Amino acid sequence: LKEHNAKSIWHPMAHPADSQANPPTIVTRAQGVRITDLDGHETVDAVGGLWNVNLGFSCQPVKDAIAGQLDTLPYYSTFRGTSNDQVIQLAEELRRFFAPDGLTRAFFTSGGSDSVETALRLARQYHKIRGEAGRTKFLSLKKGYHGTHMGGASVNGNANFRTQYEPLLPGCHHIPAPYTYRNPFNESDPARLAQLCLQALEDEIAFQGSGTIAAFIMEPILGAGGVIPPHESFMPGVRDICTKHGILLIADEVITAFGRTGSWSGSRHWGVQPDLMATAKAITNGYFPFGAVMITSSVAEVFENDRTGAAAIGHGYTYSGHPVGAAAALACLAETEKLNVPENAATRGTQLHRGLLDLRDKHSLIGDVRGGHGLMCALELVSDRESKTPIDKATIATVQEVAYQSGAMVRVSGPNIILSPPLILTEEDADVILGALDDGLTAAAR
Ligand code: PMP
Repeated sequence: LKEHNAKSIWHPMAHPADSQANPPTIVTRAQGVRITDLDGHETVDAVGGLWNVNLGFSCQPVKDAIAGQLDTLPYYSTFRGTSNDQVIQLAEELRRFFAPDGLTRAFFTSGGSDSVETALRLARQYHKIRGEAGRTKFLSLKKGYHGTHMGGASVNGNANFRTQYEPLLPGCHHIPAPYTYRNPFNESDPARLAQLCLQALEDEIAFQGSGTIAAFIMEPILGAGGVIPPHESFMPGVRDICTKHGILLIADEVITAFGRTGSWSGSRHWGVQPDLMATAKAITNGYFPFGAVMITSSVAEVFENDRTGAAAIGHGYTYSGHPVGAAAALACLAETEKLNVPENAATRGTQLHRGLLDLRDKHSLIGDVRGGHGLMCALELVSDRESKTPIDKATIATVQEVAYQSGAMVRVSGPNIILSPPLILTEEDADVILGALDDGLTAAAR
């Protein structure tokens, strides 16, 4: 297995030569919050799969729901004239959870990139139906991540995920993210920085012409870009600007929905109602590739009241509304509610964040600590605190490797160590993660 791991598989988000030189960890078992590799080494999974295994790896009700569904109806989706009982029930449950945010309709997809793609398409179509076909552009944040499809790649903030694939969608523009540690304004006060970024958004809208913009897409807390929680005034400010200019607000909640931030959604965390909300990942806890775009009643009614034919939906997926995925999602939502998972995410998130702040006092490699909003935390590592020189690849790899040997799998993204463990994490599990990072940072400083 080890030999074929890099020879036969092209690993995403990696250079093929790097994968061959340093083959990725082969995971063979996972139970609760722990994973075991091919050598039998067990660690706490501080990555939570890929921000998606909120309920841990052995969630019996989800397994039972999937097994039962495989026996009764293994496939019939919501594509072209069919539906199924599971997906209807799921849509009703999602409506129950998100009606307080005005989100009452669901369009089902097979994952996060699909959900983003669907949201971008629905945004353009919405304006066309309303007779504003000139609204085709998309705005987004420079540190944002929105998946791998061509639409999502076009709105991705990180140029590394765009330039190899250009030309992408025309008319996509990226504004500075409210990233306090590094920003083009040299502003370290989060509230003032939020205002500067909002002004940059206003300026970009004025420059492009507000009648040309279909939507603004953002993650309520930026994830893959390095866990960047904006100041509390930022997303409400974006909402106001979008409303003022007739621009739809798409919340990319592929990571943040279903409890990760300590709320049922990241938008709710900031008290904001988006027009469209892209979800996936934890909706099925990693058990099935699945996603849903939630749509407000006011956007939905524009489509539903159309009598010209312009609202015919011209896209969808073979697995839209897959009954096995829907059964898994129903069980996940029930467990999330029953165990009050968002509350545990908030409590353990506070513990983890405080522990990371303590580590900063001890380790000069830590330039910035981010977190405090549920179980999404990050350390940004530097080789020199004063100049904020980003850490080199080899040193951060040592932190990761030693932390792994000491009991916690963490994720590295650029100069960041990202933590997004399952939301059922216990106090002891969080201590294991902190101890492993302490070991990793100590070893890397030698
Ligand atoms: N949006 C966000 C915010 C994400 O973090 C991701 C994946 N990490 C995606 C979209 C794409 O999701 P997927 O990998 O399921 O296609």
